[in-house]
Parts: sequence; C-alpha cells; structure tokens
Amino acid sequence: MIEIKTSAELDAMRGAGLVVARALELLAEAVRPGVSTAELDELAEQTIRDAGAVPSFKGYHGFPASICASVNEQVVHGIPSARQVLADGDLVSIDCGAILDGWHGDAAVTVPVGSVGAVDLALSEATRRSMLAGIEAIQPDGWLNDVSRAVEAATHRAEREHGRRYGIVRDYGGHGIGRAMHMDPFLPNYGRPGKGSRLRVGMAIAIEPMLTLGSPRTDELADGWTVVTRDGSRAAHWEHTVAITEDGPWVLTAPPD
Ligand code: MG
Ligand code: MG
Repeated sequence: MIEIKTSAELDAMRGAGLVVARALELLAEAVRPGVSTAELDELAEQTIRDAGAVPSFKGYHGFPASICASVNEQVVHGIPSARQVLADGDLVSIDCGAILDGWHGDAAVTVPVGSVGAVDLALSEATRRSMLAGIEAIQPDGWLNDVSRAVEAATHRAEREHGRRYGIVRDYGGHGIGRAMHMDPFLPNYGRPGKGSRLRVGMAIAIEPMLTLGSPRTDELADGWTVVTRDGSRAAHWEHTVAITEDGPWVLTAPPD
C-alpha cells in the first residue's frame, strides 16, 4: 500500500521539506577546504532543531548523525567525522532528513570542495539532471516505472553529451516518503519491464539517482554504513522529495521560490 496524503498533509510535508532545503543551503555554503564533515553535521542538527524539527537520520537504525556526508568514492551513508576534513578538489554528497509535525523531508546535494575537476563537475551535473528528469516524469495517473526510465534516459543523454559513461548505482534508489522516511514503493534509477505502481495524487516520492565515474558496483564499509564504489571511482548523489498533485509534481524540498 502506498500512503496517500491529503492536500493539507502535503502542505505539512512542505514544512518539513523547507527545513531540509534551508539546512542543505547552509551546508552547501559551509563546504570548503579544511571543514570537517562533523562540523557540517553540527550545523545541520542545529539548523533542523532551531526550526522546531527533528533530524530524521539521527538514531535511524542506529545511525549516529544528522546528515550523511559521502566524500569522493563514498556513494551514500557516509558517517560525519572530525577526522574527515574536506580538501580542495573533493566532491562531497550531503544527504539530510528532517521530521516536522510527524512528516518527513529527505534531500541530497553534491557539492564541489574548492576547485574541482571538470569530469567530477560533469558527474554531479549528470546526476542532478537525472533527478530533475525523474521529477518531471512524476505525473498524476502516470506509472512508477516511467519515472525510473526517465531518470535512466537522462543519464544516457548526459553520457552522450559528456562523451563518457556513468555507472548507474543499482543497489540503492528512491522511495515513498511521508509519515516515515522510507516507505513503499522502491524506485530504481533505471528502467524495468512493466509499469510498476500507478502514481496517484497525494503520493510523495523521494527521487535520488547515484552515478559513478566507473563501475556501478558498491561495497559497504566495516562501519556498517558507508557505501563506496568497488572500483574507487568517484560518485555523486542528488535527491528531492516530490509530491504528486493535480497540477503535477511539487518539489517539497525545493527552497522557497
Ligand atoms: Mg536522503
Ligand atoms: Mg532518500
């Protein structure tokens, strides 16, 4: 069963989404060489709590922090650490979640640290554009697998434009979201046969492609969380929480317009 929200409930989810948007905006500004991912985590937790919300990641299956900070070959679920100090040329993906009045918001950005190579910037841009294509494909009475196919098609368009291949991470993907962070349905970032679930007004889905500069294969580190590329290639991750309305997709974690 996929949770259906009333328009008042989606308005409440927008409140949670705005908290996440604000936190990510401040975090992206704070990223620079010499900053540790633990400092970013502190800033995130403070921002979320100052807004009267709760960091949804903290304590989630024992996760110890308010953000995931995944640097370079880390794909997702990196644990913030005082020892992980960002250096010029790094690429850091920051994933952030907040709960406000019982509703969840979940979003991620990839941020260049100092001056980053063109190939890494293209990787991040390909990932962001794949997310945006998925968002556009979310339509009332559409099909879930069409969203997956749109994400993948945008990745392949970026590959043609950039003249290189990207690894589409298959082990993780998007998800339904609402009164919990991870709900049905699961949303792969590549097309699958069939139509999948029907998209209905009132559903909310987190769309989160992860691309790599090499193999799509991943491993989990011994810390039980950090997901890295098996071949050590760099990865990028972008995410938004999106509601389906009569008028089409509503990006709940977008900054206020
Ligand atoms: Mg997330
Ligand atoms: Mg998510």
